[in-house]
Amino acid sequence: MSAIATNLQAVQRRIADAAKAAGRRPESIQLLAVSKTWPLSHVQDAAAAGQRAFGENYVQEGAEKAVATQQLGLDWHFIGPLQSNKTRLVAEHFAWVHSIDRLKIAERLASQRPADLPPLQVCIQINVSGEASKSGCAPEEALALCQAVSRLPGLRLRGLMAIPEPTDDDAAQRAPFRQLREIYEHIRAAGMPLDTLSMGMSHDLEAAIAEGATIVRIGTAIFGERNYA
Ligand SMILES: *Cc1c(COP(=O)(O)O)cnc(C)c1O
Repeated sequence: MSAIATNLQAVQRRIADAAKAAGRRPESIQLLAVSKTWPLSHVQDAAAAGQRAFGENYVQEGAEKAVATQQLGLDWHFIGPLQSNKTRLVAEHFAWVHSIDRLKIAERLASQRPADLPPLQVCIQINVSGEASKSGCAPEEALALCQAVSRLPGLRLRGLMAIPEPTDDDAAQRAPFRQLREIYEHIRAAGMPLDTLSMGMSHDLEAAIAEGATIVRIGTAIFGERNYA
């Protein structure tokens, strides 16, 4: 078995254990393998081990991997910051976008989504307290942005995403995830049929699952430490 296949099994075990501890079904949590910076061969190894959904942060790199793996029928999720001059490649090559934080980006994706593809599945990125990046919509603007995005053709609004600052403390990990879930529940109560909470990475997936994550985005625990040099 490849190291990637072994790591995938270990991550699936962590997901199952965290789900059980939270009284949730393991199948209610999807594993997104974040392959940014890694070569195509790593994606192919993970796919051979049964992994179907892959996440990328960089438009060009992700689009190239999506094209190169077309025969494998994988689902590609864009999870990085998205500038308006890069939306076309995302609309053409990805199944999901987790990182929409303003209407202009959603409008461009909607108008650029090819008519022969299924709707682009989208999440709104929220800037929760302790956010690691400056990106993300302010919590108090989330409902209005969800309502506007849900009216666009070519897109299907699925839920919310956040990237809290890394910390080792369990309570500190859980607080921003709980905040995201509360925003999600507020938006659902307002009548929007959201079903996706994209939260949790290699170091905090247990806390995210305890707070209701439905997609965890895992890179390091599957592929190893990234080297940006
Ligand atoms: C890189 C990245 C991940 C994966 O992080 P790991 O700590 O390697 O698991 C998840 N989500 C986003 C948005 C990322 O940029």
